[in-house]
Amino acid sequence: MAFMRGKQQAEEVPLFEMSVWNCTNDACNGWMRKDYSFSVQPVCPLCQSGMSEGVRMLPQLSHYIGS
Ligand SMILES: [Zn+2]
Repeated sequence: MAFMRGKQQAEEVPLFEMSVWNCTNDACNGWMRKDYSFSVQPVCPLCQSGMSEGVRMLPQLSHYIGS
């Protein structure tokens, strides 16, 4: 896990490996950062399917829900 600090070029967004929940529905791209979820076993905010644990490389300030 690499954490980079310091000045970055405007177009360079440092990415961090974040724990996330991924939607288990193959037809849905929903996911959320664990930091922003408060449930032990959350459901997808987009389709209400169950979610499974995973990791993603994300900008530090990224919020949840991507598509
Ligand atoms: Zn979903």
